Amino acid sequence: MGHRCRECGGEMRQVGGRHHWVESGLGNVYIEGDQVKQWECPNGHKTVQIGGLKNLLDTLAETLANKRGRLTWPEVRYLRKSLYWKAGNMARALGVDAATLSRVENGHAPVSAAVDRMVRMIYQNPSEAERNLMALTDEPGENEEFLITATAAGIVVTTKPPIVRQEA
Ligand SMILES: [Zn+2]
Repeated sequence: MGHRCRECGGEMRQVGGRHHWVESGLGNVYIEGDQVKQWECPNGHKTVQIGGLKNLLDTLAETLANKRGRLTWPEVRYLRKSLYWKAGNMARALGVDAATLSRVENGHAPVSAAVDRMVRMIYQNPSEAERNLMALTDEPGENEEFLITATAAGIVVTTKPPIVRQEA
């Protein structure tokens, strides 16, 4: 290649093999194949170039969302980011406050089974989650009434107070 190391000025040579893909934000992902180009200088500084990145990131997200074991905290964060969701929106959809989600995504609080499953469901259908989950409030619903009018023409449900959908 003939280009020089940005850190020490040494000559970069192309190398092969597997790349520990820490740039993904996960510690347990490795990448290889002809889409992965790596260079190394004599002092061991490396640069890596990965082709078709969007597709790779999406494939990794899909793999995580379908894995059997509990999601780890970096995986929860990865799935949220793969949707381009802000943490505040994910917290609202999960029904937790932003600080709670932040502790989970930084490994300071465990990923509960409920959060694990919710994040996967949200990942599979983010637009529905946005429409439905984010509109929910935690106000008590004690005074709500539902009047069901059932006729041969169909069923109509009237709510009191009316169900209000907040659009973000
Ligand atoms: Zn170097």
